[in-house]
Amino acid sequence: MDFGLSEEQELLQQSARNFLAHECPTALVRDVMREGDGFPRTLYDKIARMGWTGLIVPEAVGGLGLSMLDLAVLAEEMGRAALPGPFFSSSVLAAMSLIASSARSHKREWLPRLARGDAVGTLAFLEESDRLDAAGIAARCAKTRNGYRLNGTKLFVTDAHVADFIVAAFRGRGTGEAGVTLFVIPRDTPGISVSPLSNVDQTRRPCEVVFRNVDLPSSARLADDGAGWKVLSRVMDAACVVLAADSLGGAQRALEMSVEYSKVRQQFGRPVGSFQALKHMAAEMVSDIEPARSLVWYAAYAFDHERRGASRAASMAKARLSDVYCRTTNHAVQMHGGIGFTWEHDLHFWFKRAKWNETAFGDATFHRERVAQLAGL
Ligand SMILES: Cc1cc2nc3c(=O)[nH]c(=O)nc-3n(C[C@H](O)[C@H](O)[C@H](O)COP(=O)(O)OP(=O)(O)OC[C@H]3O[C@@H](n4cnc5c(N)ncnc54)[C@H](O)[C@@H]3O)c2cc1C
Repeated sequence: MDFGLSEEQELLQQSARNFLAHECPTALVRDVMREGDGFPRTLYDKIARMGWTGLIVPEAVGGLGLSMLDLAVLAEEMGRAALPGPFFSSSVLAAMSLIASSARSHKREWLPRLARGDAVGTLAFLEESDRLDAAGIAARCAKTRNGYRLNGTKLFVTDAHVADFIVAAFRGRGTGEAGVTLFVIPRDTPGISVSPLSNVDQTRRPCEVVFRNVDLPSSARLADDGAGWKVLSRVMDAACVVLAADSLGGAQRALEMSVEYSKVRQQFGRPVGSFQALKHMAAEMVSDIEPARSLVWYAAYAFDHERRGASRAASMAKARLSDVYCRTTNHAVQMHGGIGFTWEHDLHFWFKRAKWNETAFGDATFHRERVAQLAGL
């Protein structure tokens, strides 16, 4: 099997790297982290004009209709740049929730706007239990005469404070996977309140979203009891692949910064990179990152082409890259010495992003267990 990127993918990679180096320098990341709502709108207007907000959105509804492997290539570059803002929540989580459903009216209503960058979406999934399986969805949707009434609290809903719509999971009739129902809900619907939460990674903004007697028409339903969990599983796989790719790009950047620094920082009359202790750390980072790349690309390929093995490959990539990104940024801080610990140096952008990527959508332990279960163990 040929596992290189195609010419088009190499072009996407190169143009994304150039674009983000120019349009998303670390000074901008720092500004976004420090103040405001975490949504650099001017940058996102440009991203939308490049078509990236609709990268995986089908062409029929205004997107580029590209594959998960294309998205992984782009996500790697975004991780490299520590791109702040709602790309992941909107163009991955919300977009994939709609794409994976069979609700044509919602697709027609939201996907063109999302692809054009005129609307931002997000996914409300986790609750207080922090469980990623269907049993974790306890927020209730009760049938009313004209539709549904929703009650419950969702946590860690990334970018809900800037979202125009929220795809949210509720429990209808039935236990486990059978009772999961998804809705598409405009954020300004009466009864919804959004409160930003503090986060170690200030490039992402998680929120608490409370639904208090939120009345919706039946047409707001995205996926019925039963089908809802299938959609969420697909979104979970996409999230794992994209977070793994983001982690890969971030780890590579932390490695490059460390090697560069070790060549110029002098101690005891010589560059610190000449000390064996640092050479070993750099070698460990490389030996972690290089094999991880094929794992990420394979997971993206499997998402597109191998439905049966897709979840397993996504979890393997997520588990491995959660570890690799954290380990690499830990080594990077060590290699930088005291300055790597400071706010003034940029390295903490990636160190903190690694912590967020590690836990979002399940840490390495969760995904190793998922791999074992999918393998029937
Ligand atoms: C949280 C924190 C609090 C601090 N508080 C204080 C304080 O109160 N007072 C104070 O004076 N300082 C303080 N420091 C600074 C601290 O003493 C220095 O950071 C530390 O001595 C390392 O020096 P450096 O940062 O110049 O790193 P460098 O010496 O530049 O080291 C960079 C890298 O090279 C490696 N290295 C350097 N020399 C060698 C060698 N000979 N062989 C092998 N590897 C080598 C280091 O292990 C490191 O990985 C603090 C640092 C931190 C992180």
